[in-house]
Amino acid sequence: MTLYFMDGKFTEQGELNISIDDRGYYFGDGVYEVIKVYGGELYTAEEHISRLFQSAAKVKMTIPYSEGQMLEIARELALCNTISVGHVYIQVTRGAAPRTHQFPASTVVPVVSAYAIQNPRPTSNIDNGVPVKSVEDIRWLRCDIKSLNLLGNVLAKQEAYEVNCAEALLHRDGVVTEGSSSNMFGVKGGTIYTHPANNLILNGITRQVVLGLCQELAVPLKETAFTIEEAFKMDELFLTSTTSEIMPITSIDGHSIGSGIPGTLTRKLQKAFALQIPSIIAGE
Ligand code: PMP
Repeated sequence: MTLYFMDGKFTEQGELNISIDDRGYYFGDGVYEVIKVYGGELYTAEEHISRLFQSAAKVKMTIPYSEGQMLEIARELALCNTISVGHVYIQVTRGAAPRTHQFPASTVVPVVSAYAIQNPRPTSNIDNGVPVKSVEDIRWLRCDIKSLNLLGNVLAKQEAYEVNCAEALLHRDGVVTEGSSSNMFGVKGGTIYTHPANNLILNGITRQVVLGLCQELAVPLKETAFTIEEAFKMDELFLTSTTSEIMPITSIDGHSIGSGIPGTLTRKLQKAFALQIPSIIAGE
């Protein structure tokens, strides 16, 4: 039996009660998080929950639980659903109220829902790398908020999928921002480059893990954006996200990056990433 969290309690799917008036449906008026589970344990859960609260605050929404309570809910879902490798999804919408653009009355309580799902690591793509397609970044100017409003991301990912690419390499005014659901990194002459964490990208938790690993390994990293032309000439490219981890990029628009196989710095970071997670080392 799969357990979900909704309306303040753990419940079965048949008992989920979602209103047609939920502002998540009408406006994508909400925020969300995805937390990875490895070996039954949540990975970087505090960071994800903290970002959930930051996203909510940026859109002036108050989550009716504490960060500690949200952590407990996520842990409980992973445990009760006996997830070994997978993720917990959490979403908070501004609540259910008759459709008007402006915020509903303050008595309307945000709706928190969550579930846990078994989901294997994408090991083949992590090992072999993936092709990406360059796509213009047409999203709004608050990409730092992990909002449910994902149409720009959805359209970009679909454009990539239609030409058998795993991800869209988004660029705004010729500058690479991020992926449709990932952060982008380039390697040139031994230095790693990635877009600074500002309003144009989501400051990925995996991105922050990679920044930490670079410091530990004394690998030079600059939070400096690179152009789409520079991307084509990088020695290595890789993307990061909670579910993709550190994934090499082998080509953009059919043009090979470097020698067309995952690069040495990418491999080094992948190894360092795996070393932090016992269940990956154990090959589970
Ligand atoms: N950028 C976007 C637009 C994303 O949707 C994601 C995935 N959540 C990321 C970056 C990577 O973030 P994280 O490492 O926290 O999963």
